[in-house]
Amino acid sequence: MDFLPVFLDIKQRTVLVVGGGEVAARKVGLLLRAQARVRVTAPELCQALMSLKDAGRIEHSAAVYQVPDLVGVMLVIAATNDEAVNRQVSLDARQRGMPVNVADAPELCTFILPSIIDRSPLMVAVSTGGASPTLGRLLRARLETLIPASYARLADLAGRFREPVKKRFKSMSQRRRFWEQVIQGPIAELVYANKDKQAEQALQTAIDHADSDQLAKGEVYLVGAGPGDPDLLTFRALRLMQQADVVLYDRLVAAEILDLVRREAKRIYVGKKRAYHAVRQEEINQMLIDLAKQGKRVLRLKGGDPFIFGRGGEEISGLAEQGIPFQVVPGITAAAGCASYAGIPLTHRDYAQSVIFVTGQLQDGTVELEWQTLVQPRQTVVVYMGLAGLEIICNKLIEHGMPATMPAALIQQGTTRAQQVISATVGHLPQVVAQREVHAPTLLIIGEVVRLHERLDWFTPQR
Ligand code: SAH
Repeated sequence: MDFLPVFLDIKQRTVLVVGGGEVAARKVGLLLRAQARVRVTAPELCQALMSLKDAGRIEHSAAVYQVPDLVGVMLVIAATNDEAVNRQVSLDARQRGMPVNVADAPELCTFILPSIIDRSPLMVAVSTGGASPTLGRLLRARLETLIPASYARLADLAGRFREPVKKRFKSMSQRRRFWEQVIQGPIAELVYANKDKQAEQALQTAIDHADSDQLAKGEVYLVGAGPGDPDLLTFRALRLMQQADVVLYDRLVAAEILDLVRREAKRIYVGKKRAYHAVRQEEINQMLIDLAKQGKRVLRLKGGDPFIFGRGGEEISGLAEQGIPFQVVPGITAAAGCASYAGIPLTHRDYAQSVIFVTGQLQDGTVELEWQTLVQPRQTVVVYMGLAGLEIICNKLIEHGMPATMPAALIQQGTTRAQQVISATVGHLPQVVAQREVHAPTLLIIGEVVRLHERLDWFTPQR
């Protein structure tokens, strides 16, 4: 180990920064975040430092660095563009046993500043010991995406309750188990859902009624898995997927996405197919309730967005009635995913000011839609579940006044490696599609914007 990681309390302590440029300004910003008293020595200041000076947030000595600058200082940072000055600062500081950091010169440093992920009071620091700041930054970026911003509030909450919990539970292992449940359970989820007040109450209740069933209460996550490409999952979806005890999933949820669910989670297929249902909707609703009541964390994973043609509302209304905690995580709906991956902007100043999503689900062999609403000018129409009724839909639209030359596209397995786009006109699309082997799921987009597909198509999956 080349460096000992420490976190220094520099609140109200004086730190000297030698240098007045952009690099110095970045260091000053960091020091101010840690509530230090910052003294800057530099003949001239850059814009950022000047504003800080004007705001009275830093002291400035408009002179060349001299040894007396070090008096009363706890830490020194040298960030001038003059190597000799930096070297001198480092030497002087080391002679006085004062920790010193020199920007971009690890050999002159007695301490280095790590890349940080700041979720104060939670702080993660990454360092490569000066070997590769770039690698450090890249790793930091990855960690940044792994650690939700709401961890800051969670850490804060835990900090406030640390003493009460310590009083309540005598043994350390008891406390650890208690906190594990809090941090991995419904209380933390309340924090992530921005319900801090409720989280605080729940935490107090958990403390008061320790080892009661309260702690083992189940919950349901209704999560949108997006249209297929796993990269389109939200961070929250991924996090909940990794902490679920059991997952109920549809046919629309891609295998690659299911792979990202916690390995130990039990998988239950409740997929539906057109014309018959593998598991009836009422049964799914009931399963969610039963599993949650057993204290399970139930992940209900749905293709696209759960609230767009997903019956998500029905699935959670039973939970709401029974007072079972749940949360809904939006996903990228097929319309947004397919449109982006096919290079078809759903709205466009030249072609469409509005977009309408409808379902083309056949009911007794007919399609019931507000045809008049769908043939409005300058509007994009997106039809979910429109393949079976494709011909009827196109004919009806033309019947109600849509020009047969209106561009239309059928997107198969959008956003996946198997994506295919068939583009034609409303008049011809049914014929063109009939001659092709089509793989579900498919989405129909109708409107002038479809013209842009040829020009804006960018997604060329490697098969
Ligand atoms: N809740 C989902 C829609 C469920 S309805 C969402 O928000 O996307 C199912 C219909 O969605 C399918 O019949 C199809 O029309 C459309 N769909 C879902 N994923 C799709 C995909 N990857 N490519 C094309 N269409 C898709």
